[in-house]
Amino acid sequence: MAEKPQPVVVLYCQVCGLPPEYCEFGPEFDKCKPWLILNAPDLYPDLLQAANANEADKVSDQLQSTGISSADSGGSSEAKQEEVKRLPGGKIKKKEKKEVIIEKVVRNKRKCITTVKGLELFGVKLSDASKKLGKKFATGASVVKGPTDKEQIDVQGDISYDIVEFITETWPDVLETSIFFIEDGKKVPAA
Ligand SMILES: [Zn+2]
Repeated sequence: MAEKPQPVVVLYCQVCGLPPEYCEFGPEFDKCKPWLILNAPDLYPDLLQAANANEADKVSDQLQSTGISSADSGGSSEAKQEEVKRLPGGKIKKKEKKEVIIEKVVRNKRKCITTVKGLELFGVKLSDASKKLGKKFATGASVVKGPTDKEQIDVQGDISYDIVEFITETWPDVLETSIFFIEDGKKVPAA
């Protein structure tokens, strides 16, 4: 039994009014996308894929937050909260790594400064460390606020060649493997 011929239904995008296959050339393709995903997924398989990927992200986010909240109800919630900090948008910020970062900075072409960041993470008092560094290398050293408003020690001159030994000898809690240099924008282990 032959099917009755159906009248051809012409579908128009309810966002821009164009036939859906022309939406991508239309002025409001971005706004059309949700409608297209629902009404003309065959025409734009890429959109559907992207949408599915987004869904998957949301689901895994939900799973993660469930994991965190169930951990919170447990006893060791404080440690957990310290470890992971949720940022707006669902991204997870890991707890700051315990490491000392040393960077040689050349200011005004000739003046060289060695910055030392992170000693406080090892329980070192920065004002004390700054005094010791200044004395050891017979130079000026001071605690200053770095670009991210975190305190660091600025030591006048290039002491980057001797500083690792001095740090590990003065503060044995700081292992050589926890010390890094920034060289040409790259983080290089001191050890
Ligand atoms: Zn459209």
